Amino acid sequence: MPFTIAIDGPAASGKGTIARALAREFGFSHLDTGLLYRAVGAKGGDPVQAAQSLTPDDLRRHDLRSNEAGQAASRVAAIPEVRSALVEFQRSFALQEPGAVLDGRDIGTVICPEADLKLYVIASDEVRARRRAAEIGADPSETLIALRERDARDSERATAPLRPAEDAVVLDTSELSIGDAVRFAVGLVEIRRAG
Ligand code: C5P
Repeated sequence: MPFTIAIDGPAASGKGTIARALAREFGFSHLDTGLLYRAVGAKGGDPVQAAQSLTPDDLRRHDLRSNEAGQAASRVAAIPEVRSALVEFQRSFALQEPGAVLDGRDIGTVICPEADLKLYVIASDEVRARRRAAEIGADPSETLIALRERDARDSERATAPLRPAEDAVVLDTSELSIGDAVRFAVGLVEIRRAG
């Protein structure tokens, strides 16, 4: 049986960094599920059709990281038919041996409710805005506004809202270095795999 790790949390909380590090450490496949919604938002046209016809090339666009692409993603992500068009791909990705790490908003709650480990990664709004602004070369105060708007939309939507699964381990990275956050997560995986 493959080992599945579900990592959820608000924008720029550190979940992508932790997901990539865990995948590298354990030789697992990694899927940044936010990229799927960003690609759907960036395609334009009818979002449901865009989700149903998403190709690997759509995920390689160079404009998917911007604040605008994030806003467009969170708007299309509130459409139930867009979400359901992307479920099967994510679930089959999670079945890869020896394991897979998926990060997003609804991995532990909807996509992989049976995941072997669920992490819910958080950080203060200011820390998240600073990190994301540095990453994409944007203004920190504009990024803070964009993140808050996106988090509100993601948490308040009716379908698959952003929230921790009941059995998720909550990890606050506000005061942690990347190295410490990754070491904590690696330790959790080792404990679960041993059990
Ligand atoms: O993680 P990232 O910031 O790239 O996600 C962009 C947007 O995609 C989120 O704000 C959210 O609206 C949506 N998303 C989602 N479910 C996921 C991953 C991302 O609704 N599993």
